[in-house]
Amino acid sequence: MKIVALAGGVGGAKMAHGLAEHLSSKELTIIVNTGDDFEHLGLSISPDLDTVCYTLAGLANFETGWGRANETWNTISNLEKLGGPNWFRLGDQDIATHLERTRRLKEGQPLSRITKDFCKAWGIHHMILPMSDTPVRTMVNTDEGELAFQEYFVHRRCEPKVKGFRFDGIDSARPVVGAIDAIDKADAVVICPSNPWVSIDPILKVIKKISKPVIAISPIIGGKTVKGPAAKMYEELGIEPSALAVAEHYRHLLTGYVLDQVDSELQESVNRLHIKPFVTDTLMNHLTDRARLANDVLHFIGSL
Ligand code: GDP
Repeated sequence: MKIVALAGGVGGAKMAHGLAEHLSSKELTIIVNTGDDFEHLGLSISPDLDTVCYTLAGLANFETGWGRANETWNTISNLEKLGGPNWFRLGDQDIATHLERTRRLKEGQPLSRITKDFCKAWGIHHMILPMSDTPVRTMVNTDEGELAFQEYFVHRRCEPKVKGFRFDGIDSARPVVGAIDAIDKADAVVICPSNPWVSIDPILKVIKKISKPVIAISPIIGGKTVKGPAAKMYEELGIEPSALAVAEHYRHLLTGYVLDQVDSELQESVNRLHIKPFVTDTLMNHLTDRARLANDVLHFIGSL
């Protein structure tokens, strides 16, 4: 079965990892959000792309869900001593990734090419594509004015109240080479359990049209997020956060929708949206959960 997965960072990486356990490099392509990318300390940082790559390479920090395992923090602690900005934590090994990416971007190389080479160096066999080689920057409209995504997310710890989103550069951003072809050849597109507003919407806006069955896995379980501000965003935008709210968010796209067992009572409401529901345990606490959930999702797709 050929699958294209759309992924953000933490939830996206875990799902993509599970799918990669079952699908060969010819069967799985992962398209990753780059709206969270930013420039900091002169470095070009691609948080979601790195989380997906580190996770598939087995280099990720399992506890935090971002950054690398067995990391050291000498650079950032020395930067702190010099009075430099320390709000975005960068480990020493991780900094090497940003240094080399920045050097190559400055030479004019596309992000997709750099990512492909990094994947090869890290022993990743599956295709991981940034959504676009053109920069897109997610801007969060808040009660304190418009903030760049990482300013809102990390520096301000998602405290300002969200009023909306803008994706700077989205109108001129073209899908990365290979993305549309992979979707054309796919049996289905899987929307990973990522933040719909800031991880998946930018990818969907770049790709524009998907003429294949689309299946999403809810990032909201029992009205709450596992991690991150998705539920808080729904609330602040005046929508009750729930797995159903996510299904409604994607309603014009979805053929099937995967809900957690704690939300099984929402199945009928999902059905009413003309979307086929499937209930399973969607929490990926352990490595084995990722593969098990991916297996369930693939069987569900096979049944559609
Ligand atoms: P970010 O870009 O790092 O915020 O990562 P994503 O957008 O990919 O992931 C954030 C979303 O993943 C949150 O809404 C979480 O609730 C969801 N998430 C994280 N872990 C899990 C999990 O194990 N299961 C499910 N269903 N959702 C998860």
